[in-house]
Amino acid sequence: MLEVAEPRAVAGRAPDVFREGKWVPMRTYDDNEEVDFAIVGTGAGGGTLACKLAEAGFSVIAFDAGPFWRPLEDFVSDERDQGGLYWTDERITGGADPIELGSNNSGRGVGGSTVHYTMIALRWRPEWFQCRSKLGYGRDWPISFDELEPFYEEAEEALKISGPISYPWSRRRKRYPYRAHPVNAAGLVLARGCEAIGVQWSPLPLATLSAPRGMAHPCVYRGFCAYGCSTNAKQSVLVTFIPRALNAGAEVRDLAMVGKIEMGKDGKATGLTYHRGGAWRRQKAKHVVVAGYAIETPRLLLNSKCDQFRDGLANENGLVGTHLMTHSGPGVWGIMDEEVRCYKAPPCMAVTEHWNYDDSDKKDFRGGYAFMSQGPLPVGWAEAQAINRGMWGMKLRQEMTRYNHVAGLRIVGETEPQRHNRVEVADEKDQYGLPIPRVTFSYSENDRRLIEHSKGSMRAVLEGAGAKELWTDHDTSHLMGGCRMGDDPDDSVVDRDGRSWSIPNLWVCDGSLFPTSGGVNPSLTIQALACRMGDRISGMAKRGEL
Ligand SMILES: Cc1cc2nc3c(=O)[nH]c(=O)nc-3n(C[C@H](O)[C@H](O)[C@H](O)COP(=O)(O)OP(=O)(O)OC[C@H]3O[C@@H](n4cnc5c(N)ncnc54)[C@H](O)[C@@H]3O)c2cc1C
Ligand code: SF4
Repeated sequence: MLEVAEPRAVAGRAPDVFREGKWVPMRTYDDNEEVDFAIVGTGAGGGTLACKLAEAGFSVIAFDAGPFWRPLEDFVSDERDQGGLYWTDERITGGADPIELGSNNSGRGVGGSTVHYTMIALRWRPEWFQCRSKLGYGRDWPISFDELEPFYEEAEEALKISGPISYPWSRRRKRYPYRAHPVNAAGLVLARGCEAIGVQWSPLPLATLSAPRGMAHPCVYRGFCAYGCSTNAKQSVLVTFIPRALNAGAEVRDLAMVGKIEMGKDGKATGLTYHRGGAWRRQKAKHVVVAGYAIETPRLLLNSKCDQFRDGLANENGLVGTHLMTHSGPGVWGIMDEEVRCYKAPPCMAVTEHWNYDDSDKKDFRGGYAFMSQGPLPVGWAEAQAINRGMWGMKLRQEMTRYNHVAGLRIVGETEPQRHNRVEVADEKDQYGLPIPRVTFSYSENDRRLIEHSKGSMRAVLEGAGAKELWTDHDTSHLMGGCRMGDDPDDSVVDRDGRSWSIPNLWVCDGSLFPTSGGVNPSLTIQALACRMGDRISGMAKRGEL
């Protein structure tokens, strides 16, 4: 299995992600040097913010528990080999609908989950930022779409998103930086089905190159995106914001697990404790940003409890870890007469967001969902048939002979923020001696109605395209919430800039900020938030408000 035993970003150099075996220079700081920002996590939120802050002239160290990948050498098109990309440390999961944790929602390594994500880059529906006041459900965000729009644009430009000339949903926008990819056969099944029932569809905007960019090649449509892209076509944080951050003077510390945020007597963070190279060390910092995603961020805040903050940091109102959300993900599958070969090209290439924008009374639920064409790879597909459909032996072998004819759709379904869906810390400890997270999740009645409705829509589309022998399965994707942002200190963990209400030099910058989950994939919104946060912090520094 893919494994990196020793830190690579050491002694003033870091791996060059664009050239095999080569290095790029990296500024390094001493543990006792008080840097401006210590950032925990280098994924969609942390890696993007590290770049923004370093480019603004701050001294920055970004820590990641996982390795500093070399895409051209580490990533191979082998479903069995790539397990090291995921956060598979032990976590306890429970509730009425326990979330499966691992490859489908947690990355571990420089670039975070964007290293193995599916690259779908969608903006939110503008009204979702005020969904309580405008659509009558969920809760309002402290910022509006108008405030975030320039940062969506900044993130899309940084990732050179390849998208259609005209995307039918969200607000009218200027053209995507790169042209759209041709839609694969699996996507065309969605397209035909949507057209058959009179519902709009679109090629997906994707964070993979449709033309060369510097030393990165365009996508070659091999379809191994969920196992690390070995051509660098995928515009993960590892090959976009991290090289920029290093170039601007940031240090990245790989294989560095942060265990605790250190607090001073004045109630401010003084730095953090991290485990690297077999020993615990301390790094001094003027500000600490937590960007470990929706489970590890609350976990670190809770594990950092001390005499002054007995319930954990930023947790005076008991909200840290609460209102955790996932996206529900039922799928509908069928068999087509013709060969589809759904494994060719990135897994999701076509989408309908129709039900995200349907405010009619034909819906018996609040919120929305989008669904995308799917491209499972053979080993994963065989596992799914065994687990979900109880197939084994000759039955499984026969089913696999039909693999090239399979077509499927899966939703990204909004779930409601509920207080009892949460991350806590358990008594059990991990390999570092740190209490492990306990994750509890149950769908609401509304979530269940949404799921049932979506199955009907996906069936209609697949049948419209001519699929036969339909069956359904259930999955979840993405994690959001746990440290929600807000305008009311009694009702949120951090303010509209991700700054803790009670500890002025402690910040959060990742998917845990989300007050609601929306009905599309989250990472473009996380990156837009991180870009905005970078600019806000620079502005505060100039005004002497840091
Ligand atoms: C299989 C898969 C497919 C996906 N597809 C899409 C998609 O198509 N479109 C989309 O928008 N989103 C997608 N997502 C979701 C998206 O990748 C995440 O929402 C996003 O990356 C979350 O950003 P983040 O910064 O919150 O966390 P991450 O990107 O997960 O980064 C967190 C980082 O923090 C590190 N870390 C955590 N705790 C510590 C600690 N204590 N010390 C040191 N380091 C720590 C982790 O190692 C990790 O690298 C997908 C996710 C997965 C897993
Ligand atoms: S299909 Fe494209 S983005 Fe996916 S792994 Fe292959 S080259 Fe990379």
